[in-house]
Amino acid sequence: ASMSHEIRTPMNGVIGMTSLLLDTKLTPAQREYVEVIRTSGDGLLTIINDILDFSKIDAGKLDLDLQPFDPKACVEGALELVAPEAFAKGLHLAWKVEGILPAVVVGDITRVRQILFNLLSNAIKFTEAGEITVTAAATQLPSSDLFELRFTVADTGIGIPADRLDRLFISFSQVDASTTRKYGGTGLGLAICRKLAELLGGTISVASELGQGSRFSFTIVAPSGPPLAALSRPDPVADGPPLGDRHPLRVLVAEDNVINQKVTLAMLRRLGYRADLAANGLEAVEAVRMIPYDVVFMDLQMPELDGLGAMRRITAEHAPGRRPRVVALTANAYDEDRAQCLAAGMDDYLSKPLHKGELEAALARTVQLPRPPAAITTP
Ligand code: ADP
Repeated sequence: ASMSHEIRTPMNGVIGMTSLLLDTKLTPAQREYVEVIRTSGDGLLTIINDILDFSKIDAGKLDLDLQPFDPKACVEGALELVAPEAFAKGLHLAWKVEGILPAVVVGDITRVRQILFNLLSNAIKFTEAGEITVTAAATQLPSSDLFELRFTVADTGIGIPADRLDRLFISFSQVDASTTRKYGGTGLGLAICRKLAELLGGTISVASELGQGSRFSFTIVAPSGPPLAALSRPDPVADGPPLGDRHPLRVLVAEDNVINQKVTLAMLRRLGYRADLAANGLEAVEAVRMIPYDVVFMDLQMPELDGLGAMRRITAEHAPGRRPRVVALTANAYDEDRAQCLAAGMDDYLSKPLHKGELEAALARTVQLPRPPAAITTP
């Protein structure tokens, strides 16, 4: 977690600042340079996330988040993520269900989508023309409520030599050095897919023919779930004047890192909010005592008093409903951080690198709530 924080924090600065820079007036050459920084930053972040993920699974520290989900929506979610890339290469994306899929199964949708996303990204990367097809099928295991779900990603790409197939799922292995030079990559993607599929009770396999294409299949075993209640979606944020002009809020940002301070404040400014700043948890607690903020964006790792400690003090000092809404900001990308934040009383959670859209959605959620009284609250 600490490595994750140390590595992702500066990336937040790089990616956040470049997206802000891209929103300013630039010459065509400047725009091109910034776009290269932005793409490289995103690429680096993918690799970092892969390495962090892999070490976490390897250390047996990955906890699954088991929830009812719709397997069709899961496939569609992964396809949406890669559609722009496929479109840019002129590849056809298709998907079909073979037989009948349970409407709801209980499993970790994020991890299933992660495997699909990895396989789809590879399929697009190693295919120059033709199509990528995803197939989903389910079989009920004898005398149980368990289903084996099988997902297949087939491409019409370069294929893989038969003598390399067995090493594909081993970490850091690529088919050959020239592939690495041409396509890049760390050789971790398939190793992560294998570990995730195994964690989900399944396996992963591949069939391929050189020059014809490849078929990667993985299975998961999951019980069928209760029907999903219609998911309530937050209102999409409308176009028009910035949110802050329509819904003014008193905003505090508690963040010690100077670059992250700039990123968050600048993003808030674009959304129409002028936020105050606290450089650590103690300053945040102090500021909330003095000013009735509507929302506090609270970094977790700060000197003097960290975000969770500050949250506990704020909760202890203010009557329920008389404190600001607190949104945790963290560079730790793991689910248990979310649980910890919510346990400490945080109302919402955003992970870094911050995206303007997510920040805007968190503000929109705040707007929908009753506001704390404007009078100064004393502990
Ligand atoms: P990387 O991050 O390098 O892509 P992966 O573990 O995802 O790592 O893949 C390992 C290697 O397997 C790739 O470098 C490539 O040589 C080969 N490979 C993976 N998917 C495909 C595919 N769909 N078609 C051809 N080769 C593939």
